[in-house]
Amino acid sequence: GTVPLATVPDPSDRLLGGLLSPDFDDRSCLSRYRAGRYRRTSTHALSPHLVSALRRYESLHRLCAPGTPAYARALERLRASSPNATAAGDNAGDDPSGGAAAPCDYLVWTPDAGLGNRILSITAGFLYGLLTDRVLLLNGSRGDLDDLFCEPFPGSTWILPQGEFPVRGKLGIDTFQSLGNTLARGEPLAGRPWVYVHLVHNYLTQDRRFFCDDVQGELRRVRWLVFKADNYFVPGLFLIPRYERELARLFPRRDAVFHHLGRYLFHPSNTVWGMVTRYHGSYFAMADERVGIQVRMFKWAPISIDDFYGQILKCTHRENILPATVAAASRAAANTSAAAAKHKAVAVVSLHGEYSDRLRDLYHEHGNAAGEAVSVFQPTHLGAQHFGDTQQNQKAFAEMMLLSFSDVVVTTCVSTFGYVSQGLAGLRPWVLTPPDHGKAPDTPCRLAPTIEPCFHRPPHYNCRAKARGDSGRTVQYIRHCEDFPDGVQLL
Ligand code: GDP
Repeated sequence: GTVPLATVPDPSDRLLGGLLSPDFDDRSCLSRYRAGRYRRTSTHALSPHLVSALRRYESLHRLCAPGTPAYARALERLRASSPNATAAGDNAGDDPSGGAAAPCDYLVWTPDAGLGNRILSITAGFLYGLLTDRVLLLNGSRGDLDDLFCEPFPGSTWILPQGEFPVRGKLGIDTFQSLGNTLARGEPLAGRPWVYVHLVHNYLTQDRRFFCDDVQGELRRVRWLVFKADNYFVPGLFLIPRYERELARLFPRRDAVFHHLGRYLFHPSNTVWGMVTRYHGSYFAMADERVGIQVRMFKWAPISIDDFYGQILKCTHRENILPATVAAASRAAANTSAAAAKHKAVAVVSLHGEYSDRLRDLYHEHGNAAGEAVSVFQPTHLGAQHFGDTQQNQKAFAEMMLLSFSDVVVTTCVSTFGYVSQGLAGLRPWVLTPPDHGKAPDTPCRLAPTIEPCFHRPPHYNCRAKARGDSGRTVQYIRHCEDFPDGVQLL
């Protein structure tokens, strides 16, 4: 087919080239039409087909969202077919009665893992919804989603009302109604009132068949899909033949899926936006150049603070992200006009305070040789990670947003927090390489080959052979990730 004309979203255009709907009340979500202005101009083309698919989806969502008669009917049918959906009792049976209007199909997201993982799994779910005409609803609890995101779809909600949804209890690998367990029993999926799709990193072979064409065919006849994922499974959708054509039209350039969908879906609530603009105003606004450095320490990749700090310095100096420092005495001799100095603001985003403290001290004490003034700040240092905490989520999201306003981004490999920031920014980040046997590696960082997040746990399943396969060698534009070789990403 022909390649559709595409436009590059312009941040001065409040709708970002048609990515955003104009049908919102500005005050209910201050960030929606403003965040674009804080970012660099996107160099990633947006296809008109994606724009029209988003408008079409918004109409569908408005028709089917909680509060509509269609939703009430669908929920009633689900309840009638599975009065206690968590029990193993299995009420198969199609619903041939239908209704007057075409019934709605749903995809219910279940929270898992940290905020970065959640943003990525919501995005992947939304793309699946676009491809299959399913309405995406978020089933958050325990303050998971409180005062964090604005509603992304005009005139409706994407929050599943608590209490009335019959699928309750813990969903996991053992859930009787899961896609994997149903297939393992040799039972059909089509016609079930609901199916649970387990796409968490520990998923098993049968669960992985979600990414097979025949299984996708069966799922078309399941009204409610409930899914849980801690993964950016978008590349997996590109492996399914039936979606290939539509995906090519939506994303003629495949390497900016999260960039566009993330900017479309995730708008900080007014509380979070207040934090973002405060951080920005205090530290970033006056700078000539903004550098964001995200430092994440993973238990599975232990490294000392000294070593990691050394690695960060080596990376930022080697790649000319930060100027080299010189001793104060020679600086005094060399430095003539401080007024001409370029001001670089460095935002360090981390749970730990040590890195920004050391960097700040370094530039305070030594100054630098390149005639640049460097200021270093860190919005928060919370020490440890907590799940399902409203304030933690708000701070984390505010910091992802702030990083996305940078001109240069340095991230820690494998961190979904970093993926979200780089994706929203539309920048290929400098990725800090993992430690080598607990020590700083020789190559401190590498420029990422793509702005796309890595799908850490791809199916690695060959649907035709019904055997193990390599998801990184199935189609041309999906490759193993540089930062996590077992994963795959779109290029
Ligand atoms: P990942 O674990 O790096 O893939 O990122 P996630 O966002 O999924 O999970 C880490 C969680 O820890 C975040 O959601 C935050 O709650 C917290 N966290 C980690 N790093 C930071 C940070 O730099 N700033 C803040 N505010 N929170 C962080």
